[in-house]
Amino acid sequence: MAKAFASSGDLETKAETFVELAGGVYALTAEGDPNVGAVEADDFLVCFEARATPVAARRWLDRLRERTGKPVRYLVLSHYHAVRVLGASAFDAAEIITHEQTRRLIAERGQADWDSEFGRMPRLFEEPESIPGLTHPTLTFSDRLVIPLGGERELVLQHCGRGHTAGDIVAWLPQEKILFAGDLVEAQAALYTGDAFHDDWASSTLDNVAAFGATRLVGGRGAVAEGADAVRAAIAQSRHFLDELRRTVGEVHGKRGTLAEAFGKAHDALAPEFGGWPIFEHCLPFNVQRYWDELDGTDWPRIWTAERDREVWAALQGA
Ligand SMILES: [Zn+2]
Repeated sequence: MAKAFASSGDLETKAETFVELAGGVYALTAEGDPNVGAVEADDFLVCFEARATPVAARRWLDRLRERTGKPVRYLVLSHYHAVRVLGASAFDAAEIITHEQTRRLIAERGQADWDSEFGRMPRLFEEPESIPGLTHPTLTFSDRLVIPLGGERELVLQHCGRGHTAGDIVAWLPQEKILFAGDLVEAQAALYTGDAFHDDWASSTLDNVAAFGATRLVGGRGAVAEGADAVRAAIAQSRHFLDELRRTVGEVHGKRGTLAEAFGKAHDALAPEFGGWPIFEHCLPFNVQRYWDELDGTDWPRIWTAERDREVWAALQGA
């Protein structure tokens, strides 16, 4: 039987888990659907990630409002992907913060990415007509931005290098040793690398993520990693996924094989460990195509459109 395109056949509602990680530090995880977080300052909130639509974002804000009525001063978006940014209007944030490359990517491909992700993961787009338009940042930075939270506490936003996209940022609470890692690290969910810089991500970028020494990590998808060992394991697992993808696709590319052959090898190598995780089958064709492009010398990722998504899917998963 043919596999349903990407995650279009995944219609089952996921259970959401609200967690207070430390005093005033919150996360909502959802069995492999995109995670979100929030941090309380003395008189405002910083929210991390916005979900796919304002209606989906409002369900998270309703949970948060059971704990605090503080206004959202900053909405931090870890990167440009539609399922993380298009719910932004629900937050009424004074500032929307991203990396400067995320500003560029939204201007260049925000609409194409919206159309692509809507086709790939329709379930996440609850009441899509509630989206007022593309989300553009109001404040960007290139390396590091510190938000004072009151007293000794601060939230550090940092770019760790190119990885899942050209402009990922993480949010780090040094006092609490909690890291919101965005899609640079996944906990028991497959990595999406269709817009990635695989070699940077698997080496210096993940080294920089590990160097925080977090004792709790909220990845882009999956459960919260609790404790230094679990954090190290989540980072190692993400790196291992990338390394296996690079090894198998690299071997086939090196001996001038075909893209379909590379997909088969990558699938065989990754499926035993990662095949049962959310979005594995969905991601793999796009991942293999992007790393193949990188090996061909295409540094800046090609734009995924709803049409190109279907072509690559048919060529690889449909075979
Ligand atoms: Zn993403």
